[in-house]
Amino acid sequence: MRITTITNWAYGITMVLTVLSATAFILSAQSAIQERRAVEQHLLLNSMAEELALGAEETTDEARLYVMRGEARHLDAFTIDEGEERRRDTAINALRGLGIPDGELQLVEQAATDAEALDKVEEAAVAAYRNGNQTGARDTLFGPEHERIQTALLNDVTQFRSLAAARTQAAVRSAQARSDLWGDVAKVMLALTAVIFLAVLYFILRRRVALPLVRMTGIVNRLAKQDYAVEVPNDSRRDEIGEMNDAIQVFRENGLERNRLDAERKQDLQTKDLILQMMHRLQACYAQKELAEVVALFVPQIFPGIAGCLYTMNESRSALTEVSRWLEPANTQPSFPASACWGLRRGRLHVSHVADNDIACQHLDETAVPGLCVPLTALGEAIGLLYFEDRTKDATAVDAPQLYLELIAENIGLAIANLQLRDKLVHLAVRDALTGLFNRRSLDEALNNLHRDQSARTVVCMMIDIDHFKRFNDEFGHDAGDEVLRHVAQIVSDTVGDVGTVYRFGGEELTVIATDIADGMGFEIAEKLRTIVFTTPFSYRGRIVGPLSISVGVASAPISGPTTTLINRADGALLRAKLSGRNKTVAAFALKAEEELERG
Ligand code: GH3
Ligand code: MG
Ligand code: MG
Repeated sequence: MRITTITNWAYGITMVLTVLSATAFILSAQSAIQERRAVEQHLLLNSMAEELALGAEETTDEARLYVMRGEARHLDAFTIDEGEERRRDTAINALRGLGIPDGELQLVEQAATDAEALDKVEEAAVAAYRNGNQTGARDTLFGPEHERIQTALLNDVTQFRSLAAARTQAAVRSAQARSDLWGDVAKVMLALTAVIFLAVLYFILRRRVALPLVRMTGIVNRLAKQDYAVEVPNDSRRDEIGEMNDAIQVFRENGLERNRLDAERKQDLQTKDLILQMMHRLQACYAQKELAEVVALFVPQIFPGIAGCLYTMNESRSALTEVSRWLEPANTQPSFPASACWGLRRGRLHVSHVADNDIACQHLDETAVPGLCVPLTALGEAIGLLYFEDRTKDATAVDAPQLYLELIAENIGLAIANLQLRDKLVHLAVRDALTGLFNRRSLDEALNNLHRDQSARTVVCMMIDIDHFKRFNDEFGHDAGDEVLRHVAQIVSDTVGDVGTVYRFGGEELTVIATDIADGMGFEIAEKLRTIVFTTPFSYRGRIVGPLSISVGVASAPISGPTTTLINRADGALLRAKLSGRNKTVAAFALKAEEELERG
């Protein structure tokens, strides 16, 4: 209830009580007036009765004195007193007007009748006296009849006075009691008004104002210190304090909302910062392996709780292979054809979730688990895929902000494309286009770097030359010659394997460099090469061409020695192999012998 309503009610009640107490006071005052009137009436009746009795007595006295002494003044006084008779009648009429009870009135009238009878007896006695009958007059005035009438008169008056006194006293008592009662009622009403006034004042000031204000002050202080954990209790009262409580509640909710937005903005900034960090590191990657590590490290930080993996497309753009994973996605295959992914097919983000009535990708094992595929593209070509999967109920891949997903996908895609481009350029720079072997530049670099290889102690160089190669060109054309070159290069690569590195020295000459192999092993490998080339049939356009043969010169040297002469020594051995009839392997002379040979 509103405070104004309470105060209005309290005002109304106190007004009613005030009016009631005023009425009680008025009634009490009226009772007091009635009391006074009763007293006045009592006094009036008393004096009238007394006057009646005294008047009769005085007239009797004057009449007796006259008949006893015969003095004229007594007769005059008696005659004047007779005038009193009219006053008596007037008084009786006045009593009637006062509305006194019949009993009393009868007594008064009886007394008046007695007084009249007495007057007549006395007048007769006075007349008899004046007529000379003095004895008769005295006998009449002092006789038993006169006494009887006088006694009756006095009795009536006495009785009237006692009756009137009893009645008026009862009226006084009743008026007094009423006056007291209404006075008490008025006092009680006033006391009640005062109590209500004080109670309302207490209720409003303490219960409805002071206590809630103290509570709210505490809450506002905590809110001012940004302590939004403070509980603002629900106040159902519809008054000013209740409205203040509502306002504080709104203030707290606004604070909480602002905090939430701040946290969101902070989270947003943090995410952007992480994306930026990832972008910088992606740009500095030299190899796809590094790129995969960077992605596996940063993406789970950007999308916490969401598992995923990174796939790259093969060169023919037909299949994808997983290169890194985070938080153990369990629902996708490590490699699959590009056509198995709806995201790649459509070239846009795809959510596989049967519950959402969308088609699920075929590379997913279970269609009940939602999966999100984000294709990676660069220069309009699909080059990989980011796959996300929910592992916890708190984080859902589907809810990840699309803007960030696209930003990340674009950057990873560009980084992969850059690396692939870089690999291609490096490949072009260090490899020979025809055979796929390392080129002459790579050989020079490898020889220059040999001294930096701390682990190796010896180095073996094989110079290989295809015998009579020109003939293939001449007989079958350059394409056939190219094919022979590829064929021999393949055999040499496969046979040398991890033991050494094969280079195309130039023309139809190949070089093998192997470090740290046992003495004599270089020669063995060279012989093996020569035998395999010679024994492996070579066909060109369905025709067996051959036999093919190679000549090999092998030289070895300690790694600490000069490597510049190594090629020359191997080349010398190769020349000797040619001169000795081709399809031969010749080892170079020992280093000292070689030097001596060169000197002289
Ligand atoms: P030998 O047994 O003495 O080595 O005789 P050869 O014919 O193998 O040697 P020669 O030096 O006379 O001929 C090498 C030829 O290889 C010359 C050149 O036209 C040819 N040639 C060099 N590079 C290529 C190439 O990339 N493709 C083709 N088809 N021929 C090449
Ligand atoms: Mg040659
Ligand atoms: Mg040759």
